[in-house]
Amino acid sequence: MDLVGIELGGTKCICTLGTDRGDILASLRVPTRRNSDETLHEISTGLHELIRQQKQTASSFDPVGLGIGSFGPLDLNPSSAGFGSVTATPKPGWSHKNILQPLSTQLHLPATITTDVNAAALAEGRWGAAQGLDHFIYVTIGTGIGAGIVSQGHLLNGLTHPEIGHMRIPVARNGQMSSAGFKGVCSFHDDCLEGLASGPAIEARTGLKGSEIQKDHVIWEDVTQALAYMCHNLTLMFAPQRILLGGGLIMGQPHLINSVQEKFLLSLNDYAQLPQLIGDITHYIQRAGLGDQAGPLGTLALAQQAAQHKRL
Ligand code: ZN
Repeated sequence: MDLVGIELGGTKCICTLGTDRGDILASLRVPTRRNSDETLHEISTGLHELIRQQKQTASSFDPVGLGIGSFGPLDLNPSSAGFGSVTATPKPGWSHKNILQPLSTQLHLPATITTDVNAAALAEGRWGAAQGLDHFIYVTIGTGIGAGIVSQGHLLNGLTHPEIGHMRIPVARNGQMSSAGFKGVCSFHDDCLEGLASGPAIEARTGLKGSEIQKDHVIWEDVTQALAYMCHNLTLMFAPQRILLGGGLIMGQPHLINSVQEKFLLSLNDYAQLPQLIGDITHYIQRAGLGDQAGPLGTLALAQQAAQHKRL
């Protein structure tokens, strides 16, 4: 089955031609401009050309579905008039912009949309480190922090998609975090996870980008403590079979995962007596498997669901 995917990011969009086997055949990058109409037009004309070129290479190429993974927040309520739109965003030019409808129309394909992190979670379940699992959580940690929660094989969406990056984190409890006094960088909540442990939070505290910081820097104690509390909360709320950690920060500093695992066990304090949560938890909290391919592959997984009219 031939498919088309679009990952709409804060600074760039990745358009992908591929298959339901997870083969990426061709891709194209388009800058995310302030003018949303211009960006969507550039995506659809670029994809028309890419599809034309692909048909020259392989005349049998015939896409049947379009998957869109986008930055949020998004309106994902199918009965809402704004379904498929970005809702209120501080990003200039994009508030209340419908993404799904114009791209589906311009590309003449059945389409579906979810958040970029939800799409990446689908890809991890299909081809990555959560294969064979019905309940898992994929967390991306980078400029922002977000998660795709898969429950009983489906993405968990309610009033809207989950926004786990804004869960509150106890900053100075029992003296475990030395960041007491640091307000956090989230303009809504100060001491939420994203405010304390995202790339911008790390940069605000150290003056350095996460990738430039030494492995033994004291900042990692606080970052991994916040991520351990996140894993504690996610475990007790959703009881997943596995938590995957991915995104730019983890890809650049993979050693952080061991420290998150250790602090998670201390935080849980033997509460949930399940074999998966005692001792060796290297399979319970682990690094995501697909790296920066999770997003593009996720849009192909979405496209397949659009073609088959499946529930996400
Ligand atoms: Zn926040």
